[in-house]
Amino acid sequence: MTKVHIDNLVRRYGALTVLDRISLDIEDGEFIVLLGPSGCGKSTLLSAIAGLDDVQGGRISFDGRDVTKLEPSRREIGMVFQSYALYPTMTVRTNMAFALKVAHADKAEIKERVTWAANLLQIGHLLDRKPGELSGGQRQRVAIGRALVRRAKLFLFDEPLSNLDAKRRTEMRKEIKSLHERLGVTFVFVTHDQIEAMTLATRIAVMNAGVIQQIGTPD
Ligand code: ADP
Ligand code: MG
Repeated sequence: MTKVHIDNLVRRYGALTVLDRISLDIEDGEFIVLLGPSGCGKSTLLSAIAGLDDVQGGRISFDGRDVTKLEPSRREIGMVFQSYALYPTMTVRTNMAFALKVAHADKAEIKERVTWAANLLQIGHLLDRKPGELSGGQRQRVAIGRALVRRAKLFLFDEPLSNLDAKRRTEMRKEIKSLHERLGVTFVFVTHDQIEAMTLATRIAVMNAGVIQQIGTPD
């Protein structure tokens, strides 16, 4: 499991301060939701945790180890993007295996992990299709599967359900919650949807204009 410690994090774009000395502790195995309006800095904060973006001040550590300067591939996280970011010319299987191939995992290991994630997400029958041949909900599952195969201890989700229709969204919410319970790892989930936050979170951090305004349990 991974405990995340964020200390006085600052991200600026020119004169605009997007993360204004954010401090946040994320506990092992919790499901924390970052809730806030569009433009408040949620994606920027996730990118900083993932190491996909530079910061101008502050520190991030995982389990006591400073990762502020560590490159993304060495942070051992799984990330699911709002746009899914699947490779359109690759099959579902290849999309899911890609990060493991890049990391030179052996073939049997890759196959085992892809099968495991595909079963968990019930997409085993879609492995030979391309993303263009899938529904929005199916693409979303593949995007989650691609993050799962890394067997990370920390998963970051950036508004993963916002492109789904209401019915699929409710369905995927339940699945994501059950996935969290089954995996027992740490989930950080970004949304601007209060109901989503209330149904998923063990704890909610309410963000506004680059700061965390409130933090607590859904109750
Ligand atoms: P959220 O995910 O909460 O909608 P973001 O983290 O994407 O918000 O953006 C926070 C703020 O940072 C917004 O005001 C946005 O315009 C600004 N921002 C994000 N990316 C850039 C960028 N590459 N250049 C300049 N400003 C940016
Ligand atoms: Mg965003």
